[in-house]
Amino acid sequence: MPRRDGAGPVWWHGRFRGCGYRITAGREAILGVLMIAEKHLSAEDVYNKVHPANPAVGLTTIYRTLEILVNMGLVFKFDFGDGRARYELVEGSKKSHHHHHLVCTKCMRIIDYTEFINEEIELLKTTEKGLSKKYGFDITSHIIQFYGICSVCQKGN
Ligand SMILES: [Zn+2]
Ligand SMILES: [Zn+2]
Ligand SMILES: [Zn+2]
Repeated sequence: MPRRDGAGPVWWHGRFRGCGYRITAGREAILGVLMIAEKHLSAEDVYNKVHPANPAVGLTTIYRTLEILVNMGLVFKFDFGDGRARYELVEGSKKSHHHHHLVCTKCMRIIDYTEFINEEIELLKTTEKGLSKKYGFDITSHIIQFYGICSVCQKGN
């Protein structure tokens, strides 16, 4: 179940009101699962966690709902290169801090990091500023991920 912190309804309720989608038990359950997730979940992972308590919610519904949530900007969809999309709540999850990804293409480990290096922050600042100016686009968020070989896999060679 989604955690309620006493400050009123969970944050995504307002988003639903704003874009014409209804909050259904299934949608709420899926968001609840993503909220307490400690790793990036595939649609199958979400299904395995949602289905026992919500037998009416099948895998097709999970896929469709995740797409809706992605389109609503509530959920990020990632491709880590193993052919299975992974999903993560944009904000409010257990690992809610804005982070970037280091993806190991050998063991498929995904490192969420929040300790950005100074050069990275500078680069993003100037890039976002430049893009906003050039395209008249108001940038509100970004997804950054780097692919490579993690330190464990490097030692294994
Ligand atoms: Zn960032
Ligand atoms: Zn690795
Ligand atoms: Zn992540």
